Amino acid sequence: MTQDRREMFVDGKFRPVSTSDHISIIDPATEVTIGSIADSNEADVSRAVAAAQTALPGWKETSPQERAAYLRALADCYAERAEDMAALVTHQNGAVIKRSRRTNGTRPVAIYRYNAQLADTFEPESVLSPDDPSLVRREPLGVVGAIVPWNAPQSLLASKLGPALAAGCTVVVKPSPETSLDTFMLAEMLNEIGLPPGVVNVVTGGREAGTALVRHPGIDKVSFTGSTAAGRVIAATCGEMLKHVTAELGGKSAAVVLDDADLDVFAANLISTCLPNTGQVCYSCTRILAPRSRFAEVVDLVVETLGNAVIGDPKDPTSDFGPLVSEVQRQRVESYIQSAIAAGARSALGGGRPMGLPNGYYVEPTVLVDIRREMRVFREEIFGPVLVVVPFDDDADAVRMANDSSYGLGGSVFSKDISRATAVARQMETGSIAINGHDRSDAAPAHGYKDSGVGGDPGLAGYLQLKSISRPRS
Ligand code: NAD
Repeated sequence: MTQDRREMFVDGKFRPVSTSDHISIIDPATEVTIGSIADSNEADVSRAVAAAQTALPGWKETSPQERAAYLRALADCYAERAEDMAALVTHQNGAVIKRSRRTNGTRPVAIYRYNAQLADTFEPESVLSPDDPSLVRREPLGVVGAIVPWNAPQSLLASKLGPALAAGCTVVVKPSPETSLDTFMLAEMLNEIGLPPGVVNVVTGGREAGTALVRHPGIDKVSFTGSTAAGRVIAATCGEMLKHVTAELGGKSAAVVLDDADLDVFAANLISTCLPNTGQVCYSCTRILAPRSRFAEVVDLVVETLGNAVIGDPKDPTSDFGPLVSEVQRQRVESYIQSAIAAGARSALGGGRPMGLPNGYYVEPTVLVDIRREMRVFREEIFGPVLVVVPFDDDADAVRMANDSSYGLGGSVFSKDISRATAVARQMETGSIAINGHDRSDAAPAHGYKDSGVGGDPGLAGYLQLKSISRPRS
């Protein structure tokens, strides 16, 4: 059954939009149209922002503990529907269900609970120091425009909504056109828990709606996650209008395999670290840097592990790799592979479309070797199941190579010696690195280096306006 939802969620109700323009939603595993959403315009965005502005004074007045209670209720409600939510996201973006159950199921629940805890202990006001009675206030920044990509839409949305609501901000969400139906499902949950109308609003659409939201004078902060190209435009607008902005952008991260690494550990973490979500994750470590002395061994292991991976229907819980999100994305990925081969790279695995999957936007997991650092596949974010494996001479060479990138988002260092791995990680110009995998706590900051973004403060800091009230010492 198709879901045609050409509407917006404003002031606690699903309401008609002012345009008949719409965007089809296609299941990337079958290429069948499964629904549509409104391609909202500036007038619709303005209505959503007005609702968030109207709701702001009342929401600001609630205590942090009351806001924590709403977030906990949301987590409980979400937990009951997590399985349905994961399936709905997979239906739209092709994320393999075993991953979607985490990123669109259990992770958002954990993020909402974590932010409830932050709200519980949040102190909006404190005295500056024992010998200075001045006050420091932490006030909600105001109305937040939250712009979300399609690859892990619910955990990325939770990581915006959680702290924004805990801090006392109201929000207008503009989901990605590929994954908007799940955001409407979240809106239904917000009504179920009795969140006051207008505190969260959802307006769907593409770039026009996103641009209107960013440019709207009623938006005090833009929290954007998406491509570096869009992030530059958005950050420039926010600069011109002097709005707060967080921009979490693209990456081309490195997995550094040191010569003492336990290769069984590396193999066990390969897909989740280097090609999660069929390579469509910002922190994917798509450059594997391997010691020259063990290069052949590492390449063989990568080829064997990915060669044995299951490619297929993302709804099947055994699938490790699913389709790419769209035909456009598949063509982009294939053109990267072709450009690498034309430039002298060699495909050690994959490079084409998998057999037996005539429908769906599938590309084989692909491992490229004989890479030169000036090649586009070494430098640019591909956002697909394509890895390069490149040899290094020693730890210093590995660090130089890892840092030879315009991005700096994720990263991983594999070694049996945690101190040695940590020393390498300290030298890498990248925002979040994990040793022997890629797990990061909700409490850890996620500041991108270089073209990977600006902002990404942990906790509620990104949604607060600081203010001081200087008072005379008595
Ligand atoms: P995208 O930039 O095309 O779109 C992201 C969102 O921004 C969508 O909702 C889109 O409609 C909107 N948008 C696009 N251009 C806009 C503009 N000029 N003004 C306002 N809104 C605009 O990205 P995508 O293809 O949806 O997602 C993939 C990208 O996101 C990759 O580059 C990936 O690395 C990045 N990403 C980063 C993180 C992170 O935390 N750093 C997380 C996930 C994805």
